[in-house]
Amino acid sequence: MNPAVPATAQETSNPKPIDMHVHVLGTGAGGTGCWLRVRGWHRLLAPIMLRHVGLPRAAMAGDLDRLYLERLLAQLRGSSLAAAVILAQDLVRDHRGRPIEGAGSFYVPNHYVLNLAARHPELLPAVSIHPARPDAFEELQRCLAAGAVMMKCLPNCQNINCNDRRFARFWQRMAEAKLPLLAHTGGEHTVPVVRADFADPRSLTLPLECGVTVIAAHCGTKSGLFDPEYFHVFAEMTRRFPNLYGDTSAFNVPVRGRHVPLCLREPLLSRMVHGSDFPVPVHGHFAWMRGLVDWQSFRRWQRQPNVLERDYQLKLAMGFPPETFIRIWKLLRLPRAVVTVDHVKNKASF
Ligand SMILES: [Zn+2]
Repeated sequence: MNPAVPATAQETSNPKPIDMHVHVLGTGAGGTGCWLRVRGWHRLLAPIMLRHVGLPRAAMAGDLDRLYLERLLAQLRGSSLAAAVILAQDLVRDHRGRPIEGAGSFYVPNHYVLNLAARHPELLPAVSIHPARPDAFEELQRCLAAGAVMMKCLPNCQNINCNDRRFARFWQRMAEAKLPLLAHTGGEHTVPVVRADFADPRSLTLPLECGVTVIAAHCGTKSGLFDPEYFHVFAEMTRRFPNLYGDTSAFNVPVRGRHVPLCLREPLLSRMVHGSDFPVPVHGHFAWMRGLVDWQSFRRWQRQPNVLERDYQLKLAMGFPPETFIRIWKLLRLPRAVVTVDHVKNKASF
């Protein structure tokens, strides 16, 4: 907890933009508890992603956890953004909540994001709890007490059947605590998929019915050309569920940005929140080729080396209004008081 942080976001008359979808990762160097297992073609992808955020390939074999954190903080502090929600990543588990040996490509424990957020007030902690874990409810209570602002899961990669009735109590507790759920939807190619069918936003029906505020990461868009497309399923569900939102994360990769024009129109526009999916690469070429940004904006922001800022500015140039970048303040659980950015930025140190 940071006692120095003053007013709540709701009390702040001029809330600042926030990136609500930022990954932290590491190899466990320095005792963080993280791990990273890079296999197959991801061996090529991982160094590309690291280089994209300004880290050398050698960082993989060195003190990656610290170097990555320093890069993230430097980019955040050098950007127009007030804060970033950083995401934990639970293990891949079976239906009884037991870890599946050898599954998954990375792990970020809840205590790591909670501790980082306690030390750096511009980082807000999203925990990750597979609801089939035998200790899921206790872990949720512990994370709530420790200041979690959101819960993150990838149902298709972590093998979470969110509609399993056994989890109703877990979702009800989240709803009662006003802890929103950020759930991956649509295809996925940076993390191995265990249950492709859980990429369907309809797999989030039970938490929605239990009253949880649910944010469908990527709005159900497909990642690869041959993935099923769930964007229209997501769009249809927003009509039925006033508690369903979608994030703009990874809209600057080749395929996901296809539906930006629909996201810029009501009724979807008022459900959109801004996330980058850092360290996923940000390239404005696709937005320019689709006519979503003009040549000058593309040229200007594609040269911006700070990828958090590049992603933010490209989305502004696409026409996302300021509300898209601050809406999440009202959806996060903010047990500790948050935040005028200037205050946060002045306080920041690591
Ligand atoms: Zn992500």
